[in-house]
Amino acid sequence: MADSNNKPRVVIVGAGFAGFNAARELSRLIGATAEIVVINSTDYFLYLPLMPQVTGGLVESAHICVSLAGRLRKTRFVLGTVNRVDARRKTVSWDGPEGSSGQVGYDRVILTAGSVNKLLPIPGIADYAHGFRTINEALYLRDHIIRQLELAALAADPAERAARCTFVVVGAGYTGTELTAHGQRLTTRLARVLPGLAGQEIRWLLLDTSPRVLAELDPRLSRTAERVLRRRGVEVLTGESVEQALDGSVQLTTGDKVATRSLIWCVGVRADPLVDGLDLDTNRGRLQVDEYMAVPGSDDIYACGDCAAVPDLTRPGQICGMTAQHAQRQGKLVARNVAASLGKGTQRPYKHGDLGFLVDLGGLAAAANPLHVPLSGPVANALTRGYHLSAMAGNRMRVAADWTLNGITPSEPTSLAVIDAASVPLDVNKPRA
Ligand SMILES: Cc1cc2nc3c(=O)[nH]c(=O)nc-3n(C[C@H](O)[C@H](O)[C@H](O)COP(=O)(O)OP(=O)(O)OC[C@H]3O[C@@H](n4cnc5c(N)ncnc54)[C@H](O)[C@@H]3O)c2cc1C
Repeated sequence: MADSNNKPRVVIVGAGFAGFNAARELSRLIGATAEIVVINSTDYFLYLPLMPQVTGGLVESAHICVSLAGRLRKTRFVLGTVNRVDARRKTVSWDGPEGSSGQVGYDRVILTAGSVNKLLPIPGIADYAHGFRTINEALYLRDHIIRQLELAALAADPAERAARCTFVVVGAGYTGTELTAHGQRLTTRLARVLPGLAGQEIRWLLLDTSPRVLAELDPRLSRTAERVLRRRGVEVLTGESVEQALDGSVQLTTGDKVATRSLIWCVGVRADPLVDGLDLDTNRGRLQVDEYMAVPGSDDIYACGDCAAVPDLTRPGQICGMTAQHAQRQGKLVARNVAASLGKGTQRPYKHGDLGFLVDLGGLAAAANPLHVPLSGPVANALTRGYHLSAMAGNRMRVAADWTLNGITPSEPTSLAVIDAASVPLDVNKPRA
């Protein structure tokens, strides 16, 4: 990339919750005196918390993808995947679309590459499970679920029908819980319009090794979520997991073998593989940083969000969880600290107390504890959706319109089948056949 001026250059790698907010804040603070370059693998900022609603057909996929070029006008945006950060030469290199590539020097670099699906050493998982971390996975899963019911409706063999109508979700954190809630509603709706499925049981199983769903959140949220799911017929299996995934079935730790074509993997995430290639210290796979989000021993590399182990000053000795709440706030503060390192303002340590959590369970159901006040039902649901609208970087009207229209006349589930299984492998290093 050509030098455009003699201003100090700040390069931001990744434009999700942390990077996007860092870029916006930096533009505001030092946009006139520094050059800000943002490099991201996609040309949009993905609002991940609404992905379960995309799979459930409540929200259009494009509406949770916010244009980076449109929203980060005071930065130079590069569409590319960073493959190397050379701390000695102070350069960042990337591969772009259509065989393009490039390199840029930096005075400061902020690493906010996020996370990817976490794998566990369980036989067959990489071959048969579907992940849920990218918009392609959300769309693939939606099509896959619809297709299973459509094929089940035509199947003459009762065993095949039952397998296609069984969905196994592993991991009952907020991702797995919300996905199960929205997926179950999608299949209930679809079953009503497929006469071939009359009387057919549709099973959703939600498994977690923890003793309760939403184990990392307030137990009151767990109770609400579990009650809502069980009421809808979801089989919640806590303290259990998958022992082995096979072609057409899964072996559970309960000893049961469940015939299914749908094993959905929501056990959590790990730092983006970019972190592995850097010659920098890590903590639980995330980049080690101090409370200012600077990499120790370096005065020009910063990192935050899911890819970094930011100390949690509210819980001494622990690191911040991988949540949008943290990433967004860390992004804003890292921008201030980087600006301070360039002479504008003073650095501040990151300290953020938990403000509560919001879990949308579809329909009018939700479990929330804003400021630690437990809420459920329509009030929690309205609050959850209001929060998402305020937290989104754009497309708010479109998302609100999706909710309104779907409330009046639910969208008809159709499978566009634009994404095939091979393009969404759970393990990026192990292509699926
Ligand atoms: C389905 C789902 C639902 C969730 N719901 C909630 C919720 O309700 N509340 C909550 O607090 N948290 C939620 N989370 C967690 C939250 O989304 C993450 O903690 C948050 O996205 C982390 O922000 P980040 O900026 O670190 O990473 P991301 O937001 O993932 O951004 C990383 C960015 O870096 C880009 N990138 C990656 N590698 C490279 C590279 N090599 N070069 C260039 N660019 C790269 C990616 O394309 C992406 O744009 C959810 C997560 C998921 C998967």
